[in-house]
Amino acid sequence: MIEIVQLVKNYKSTPALRGIDLTVTRGELFAYLGPNGAGKTTTIRILTGLARLTAGRAMLNGHDIITDSLAAKKQFGLVPQHINLDHELTVSENLRIHGWLHHLPGRNIRSRIDQLLDYIGLSDQRQTLVKHLSGGMKRRLMIARALMHEPQILFLDEPSVGLDANIRRRVWALIKKIQQQGVTIFLTTHYIEEAEFLADRVAFIDHGQIVALDTPQNLMAGLGSWALDQFAAEQMQSLYFHSQPEAKQYAADYHNGFTLRRVNLEDAFLALTGKKVA
Ligand code: ATP
Repeated sequence: MIEIVQLVKNYKSTPALRGIDLTVTRGELFAYLGPNGAGKTTTIRILTGLARLTAGRAMLNGHDIITDSLAAKKQFGLVPQHINLDHELTVSENLRIHGWLHHLPGRNIRSRIDQLLDYIGLSDQRQTLVKHLSGGMKRRLMIARALMHEPQILFLDEPSVGLDANIRRRVWALIKKIQQQGVTIFLTTHYIEEAEFLADRVAFIDHGQIVALDTPQNLMAGLGSWALDQFAAEQMQSLYFHSQPEAKQYAADYHNGFTLRRVNLEDAFLALTGKKVA
């Protein structure tokens, strides 16, 4: 569904993407994980026609984003990082405008709004002005708006940034539900937990390059299953073990203040790049 070949983007003298290669298959939930400034948003902006690539090529459902851009644009819905709803309009008016922009017939717009508001749990808010919604409701409305024209691909740029833990989980459940309907999802995040919980595969991006790409399980398996954290010399250090007894034995042998926990994706990222994601 998404094919990216040697994608390069330079902002004047700043290299933002340095040759990205990746393929996302139909129905997959793919997470693009990296620290601030890694190049996540730039990738989405290029794929959705908001920024021009410097070199390389990309296809969306077989349509080249440069030579077949109109067809490529029909393949996706986009949920940008910053809330860009019309705050002075109601929930249903925001969706209706999106339907008009995509030239959907009036009858289809009405039924799609009903269906989507039910889907995201905002049916009771249809006449509410957007400025009166909570942050989590706005985020769900942005997702519904991106789905109005029934796209095959959904781009989500940091879908749960700024949401509290409870609301974030509600948004995750919605994202999973959308994937189950057959939509291919490409999401950027710097929340480790989000990628670990949601993604079929994860690409680690750092300084405009992919440093690893695999399933969350495979990315973590290289290190082991258990970690001992120790705070020493004003730094957190982690040691990795394949089994819990092995880790416990090590902690007992050294009598130091270790904390035992499961290995997570952050450990894999740290091991590859030497730095934390968030
Ligand atoms: P964040 O998690 O903070 O959103 P990101 O991974 O999405 O970060 P990008 O926004 O894609 O990263 O930025 C990649 C690099 O390109 C950074 O060095 C950034 O400063 C630079 N950059 C992004 N947009 C522009 C722009 N319009 N002009 C110049 N440089 C830019």
